[in-house]
Amino acid sequence: MSCLDSKERRPASWRPETVCVHAGTHQDPVSGGVCTPIYSSSAYVHPHPQGENVYQRYFNTPNQRAVAAKLAALENGEAALVFGSGMAAISTVLLSFLGPNDHAVFQADLYGGTHHLVSSDLTRFGIGVSYARTLDEFRSAITARTRLIYVESPSNPLLRCVDLAGIGELGRKRKLVTVVDNTFATPVNQMPLKLGFEVVVHSGTKYLNGHSDMNCGAAIGSAAAIRRIRETAMNLGGSLDALACSQLERGLKTLALRVRQHNANAAGLAAFLSEHPAVLQVNYPGLPGHPDHAVASRQMRGFGGMLSFELRDARRVKQVLRRFQVVTPALSLGGIESLICVPAQTSHVKLSAAERASLGIRDGLMRVSVGIEAVDDLIEDFSFALQPAKGRQSSRARSVGCP
Ligand SMILES: *Cc1c(COP(=O)(O)O)cnc(C)c1O
Repeated sequence: MSCLDSKERRPASWRPETVCVHAGTHQDPVSGGVCTPIYSSSAYVHPHPQGENVYQRYFNTPNQRAVAAKLAALENGEAALVFGSGMAAISTVLLSFLGPNDHAVFQADLYGGTHHLVSSDLTRFGIGVSYARTLDEFRSAITARTRLIYVESPSNPLLRCVDLAGIGELGRKRKLVTVVDNTFATPVNQMPLKLGFEVVVHSGTKYLNGHSDMNCGAAIGSAAAIRRIRETAMNLGGSLDALACSQLERGLKTLALRVRQHNANAAGLAAFLSEHPAVLQVNYPGLPGHPDHAVASRQMRGFGGMLSFELRDARRVKQVLRRFQVVTPALSLGGIESLICVPAQTSHVKLSAAERASLGIRDGLMRVSVGIEAVDDLIEDFSFALQPAKGRQSSRARSVGCP
């Protein structure tokens, strides 16, 4: 069995909750402990009983293999690699398949870090790039030099969804590598490999670990795709250490449980915000009025924990942010605690006002990573924050102190 093979403990009938707990995880042969031990060695004997050189940067230490096996099982892939960050996974995957004079088609509303990578480094290396939004746009952007299609669904911060089965089929027909960033949905809500995609990437920093206390990334796919990515990954060096692998493995054990609560809380909060007089519009794929509700319903089992909404009066953004007691104004997403941010001031601050407007990101847009707190507490918190402030400043206003 290859070091990257994940079939050890994975009956096909296991549901996601069981996969989360058991796939990849193995008992400690020395103590009988039920958790995968942390193997901290950076040097492994040679010749090695497995017949290959074991080394952290080769992505084949016991902790890397355990957590990769869990991720592969969750995404219905044959193999997986875990990285030191989401961007390490994304950059490695792109550089594994693209070279000078190649061309790739990217979704227009990409995660900011991915957008910077594409527009600066990929372009600098002579890789041609185009952007598209719909299946038709992706199809017409393909040229004789195109090698790869890259999408995110749902996207940040407007939660737009693209037709994954359609793009998967387009990629297969035209013999292109298809890559999807599944960070927002998680494999609990959406399984792109089953819809015909070749590679799934993640920022594991978000839902996979789920506790806002570590950075990591992942790439999952067929054994052949992961073998190809690993060759480049060993050169680029973005592997994850044993302690972090163990932490990610622990986080993944509760992924299905957490995501169920994220889904329910976001649906409840989206419904509340839709009715609120201070809110102009709510962007959540689970709402029947969302432009991509139909495609999201086809390809997602749950609509996720991310939503955004637009204040009727954009001048109130600062005041609203100050009034939260449960929700924290912060960057990042996917953790157990609810976070809120203003994309025009954070993730999209480097764009001009005109560029933001063309993407539909207005100054009053607020993005919420809905946590797993009691949904009634979240609704009360939003209800208070969105009330017109009486007097100069509320006594309940959070005192913002930085360490
Ligand atoms: C955060 C994020 C990334 C980058 O991940 P890091 O772990 O911060 O490197 C990529 N894609 C999406 C959708 C993200 O939210």
